[in-house]
Amino acid sequence: MKLVKTIANLGYGSRKEVTMMFREGRITDPQGEVLYADDAVTHEVVRIDGEPLDPPAGMTLMLHKPLGYTCSTKDHGRLIYDLLPSRFRLRSPLLSSVGRLDRDTSGLLLMTDDGALLHRIVSPKAKLSKVYEATLAQDLRGDEGALFASGTLMLESETTPLAPAELEVHDARHAALILTEGRYHQVRRMFAATGNHVDALHRSRIGGLSLGDLPAGAWRLLDAGDLDRLF
Ligand code: URA
Repeated sequence: MKLVKTIANLGYGSRKEVTMMFREGRITDPQGEVLYADDAVTHEVVRIDGEPLDPPAGMTLMLHKPLGYTCSTKDHGRLIYDLLPSRFRLRSPLLSSVGRLDRDTSGLLLMTDDGALLHRIVSPKAKLSKVYEATLAQDLRGDEGALFASGTLMLESETTPLAPAELEVHDARHAALILTEGRYHQVRRMFAATGNHVDALHRSRIGGLSLGDLPAGAWRLLDAGDLDRLF
């Protein structure tokens, strides 16, 4: 791919704007030598205003989604994209969230521009486990674990029962729910089906991946080791 297109696809500007950046000498190699649009150089060599290029297509990151942010590109209010460099929103292929977390749910969210990877993670066949830490409005009754594990729970307006899920009770109002599917508002609706209400919800893990010490609102790229841990 031509350099102008490669750089434009990373969201640095339109092809016209990137062509201007070349003319202005803003695009260089690591030694500061000006590069030209038809130079045959690799991604790692290119600097814009002295800074290395953003990762090429095929990037996956984890975001510690804070409360109050929506997993959407064009909703009103605060969006997960507001937490990333602004040009990430303009990348082609698009960087999208792998599934969604509600506005009022915090925690581990993956984002990728790799369609095959996205498919692999969200596919019901993958049965990738996701761990949700729930704070409940009322004490647990005691039978929720058995009900969730039964594989018979049917949510309102659905036609197939939920897959078996595991409940790890921490205390009367705190529990981790481990799901292998991702239906709309699933955790909140599962507890609602038991007459309870989820006051707070945080996703702490997907497969073998957790946030570690990544603070709320921060993100980091995943490396090959992270992807191995995921599956
Ligand atoms: N279940 C929910 O109810 N909300 C989420 O954000 C994720 C799972």
